[in-house]
Amino acid sequence: MADTQIQVGLFQVNGPVAQPGLSEQANALRAKLRRYDHEYYVLDDPSVPDSEYDRVFRELKALEEANPELITADSPTQRVGGAPMSELTPVRHRIPMLSIETETDITPQGAHNFDARVRKKLGLLPEDAPIEYAAELKFDGLALSLRYEHGLLVQAATRGDGEVGEDVTHNIRTIRQIPLQLHGTAPDVLEVRGEVYMSRPDFERYNARQREQGKPTLVNPRNGAAGSIRQLDPRLAAQRPLSFFAYGLGETNGWNVPPTHAQVLDALHAFGFPVCVERTVGLGPEALASFHQAIAAKRDQLPYDIDGVVYKVNRLGLQRELGFRSREPNWAVAHKFPAQEEMTLLEHIDVQVGRTGAITPVARLKPVFVGGVTVTNATLHNQDEIDRKDVRIGDTVIVRRAGDVIPEVVSVIKERRPPGSQAYVLLEAIGHLCPICGSHAVRLPEEVAVRCTGGLFCAAQRKQAMLHFASRRAMDIEGLGEKLVDQLVDGQLVTTLADIYHLDLATLAGLERMAEKSAQNLLDALQKSKQATLHRFIYALGIRNVGEATAKDLARYFGKLEALQAADAEALQQVPDVGPVVARSIAEFFAEEHNREVIRKLIDAGVQWEEGEGQPASSGKLEGKTFVLTGTLPTMSREEAKERIEAAGGKVSGSVSKKTSYVVAGSEAGSKLNKAQELGLSILDEAGLLGLLAE
Ligand code: NAD
Repeated sequence: MADTQIQVGLFQVNGPVAQPGLSEQANALRAKLRRYDHEYYVLDDPSVPDSEYDRVFRELKALEEANPELITADSPTQRVGGAPMSELTPVRHRIPMLSIETETDITPQGAHNFDARVRKKLGLLPEDAPIEYAAELKFDGLALSLRYEHGLLVQAATRGDGEVGEDVTHNIRTIRQIPLQLHGTAPDVLEVRGEVYMSRPDFERYNARQREQGKPTLVNPRNGAAGSIRQLDPRLAAQRPLSFFAYGLGETNGWNVPPTHAQVLDALHAFGFPVCVERTVGLGPEALASFHQAIAAKRDQLPYDIDGVVYKVNRLGLQRELGFRSREPNWAVAHKFPAQEEMTLLEHIDVQVGRTGAITPVARLKPVFVGGVTVTNATLHNQDEIDRKDVRIGDTVIVRRAGDVIPEVVSVIKERRPPGSQAYVLLEAIGHLCPICGSHAVRLPEEVAVRCTGGLFCAAQRKQAMLHFASRRAMDIEGLGEKLVDQLVDGQLVTTLADIYHLDLATLAGLERMAEKSAQNLLDALQKSKQATLHRFIYALGIRNVGEATAKDLARYFGKLEALQAADAEALQQVPDVGPVVARSIAEFFAEEHNREVIRKLIDAGVQWEEGEGQPASSGKLEGKTFVLTGTLPTMSREEAKERIEAAGGKVSGSVSKKTSYVVAGSEAGSKLNKAQELGLSILDEAGLLGLLAE
């Protein structure tokens, strides 16, 4: 409080005095950083993106530099971040684990700034030789110190506050990339320092699986790695896929340490540690700047997150001469890249309808520069994800864009939420109607996605619907492929499915890459497809969850399309193999008037089939028997085997269960055969099947 009473420009005997309020300002910034540090290092649950932390950190640093009397020994600018977690055993580092100074000028100038500082510190003149540097990547994970005694891993510790870390040996042992025993002749003591991280593909896979199971996702790979390493239960750590890169040394004993950093890394590689290949040695700042540029260009393609590159003076002798400051060595710097996570305002939530009718919520953002591009949209995945993250319109959110994955809203900064905001409910926001076609939108139980039920009618699903309709097992319209469908739909030559039957030769021949002959062939194929069978037609409609086998069951059971259309979910469940989920998607499909209209138009266009198909098929000899086909049969194609089994009244199913009557196995039969053996089912070869058919 004293400072506030002192006037600007007043000097005391013992030095300059800060301006009124500056001390409070510094204290407020420190309090903020301490809270962020605690959330980040101790709880593994940061509330703001690193870019925001770095802004506050720089603000405090600038304030302290301009007013050195404000610096306190415990200021976050003076010491390394995390206090150890109380539940884990503390480990005192024999050689402190420091941070690295950050160079925030992301232009090549950043490399020159560092070189100038190093040269100055060494008292070099411009005419003196350039310094040799090692350049490598700055991995965005968690720092580890691994202690090996006589070649065996005896302890793994986190950095903690740099002096005291946490013992995480139990979890580190689950990481396969970390050797439990060194290769070659081992020193008495070797402490290896490096970064444990989660690769981007592992992170995406892990999150996709969590999302599918309705479980919480990881915010980013760094949190994924830090959270798993600091678990108390190694089984939890073992479930998360982690990797490791070695980048330096701690204490060593009984080892002739190589003279340069680059050679140390080579030696670590020879001891059995993964060392990243993206590294170089070069002279002077130009070499560093060009490394920075080359890595920036391939950053998106790297399978792991990096937030910059690190330059280190290559000669360990020079490193010793340069020494340390409070929290950082003088011989290294981290030259940053644009942040991959930023915060911005979520202005609105829109929805997108995908090719298969899934309605996905999309965040419309106040434009923000993240991962090297300006982002205005980010996916919110689905309602469950929105609920879990509690994302609302008007929120300040953290957006992540890394690699070529589409930008994603990863979390909300709750403390910046405006008053009076409300939870977002997708179905309500769209009034339970598809925003593209106005058909009913529903969310089936057991599904995370909200879907448009107007599959045949909806413009967003038109291409997909048409391709499926034309596919070989559906209406089998040869020549109606992807390129053609794109042209027909994009050129608005067809709007509803039935329009394909009104195309004429002149229109078709006028299309790109369409000779008159192929146009005529297509017209012939269209004409031919009008003579369908009921099950093919049902399958061709593309009803969700209705594959070929179900289409056949439905055709056999109902015999007529009208009967199928009129059936409610309960009646549908009387059909063998149709459960509540399938029944509901069929009922919802036919309840949608838009779909019925398209079906009417198809019939008006001349599509027809024989009615009463397969009415309890005159009890064939395989009636009631279920077959599973696996592997390659010597003479019959799988299609042929299937047709002959079905012609004899049997059913062919895709998966083996206790209800399977026979498994027909050819060469290279896989897991289905194993399962059949486990269940003790009857297994036939082709000859056995033919025998059964001939009986
Ligand atoms: P740092 O992570 O920026 O740099 C030091 C660390 O870099 C080392 O401990 C090591 O783990 C790592 N590293 C990666 N590659 C390396 C290599 N090749 N050679 C040497 N070291 C390498 O510094 P810090 O002190 O650990 O953390 C500060 C940063 O953490 C901030 O810039 C901020 O972005 C982030 N942070 C964020 C929050 C938040 O709330 N979001 C809070 C605290 C800290």
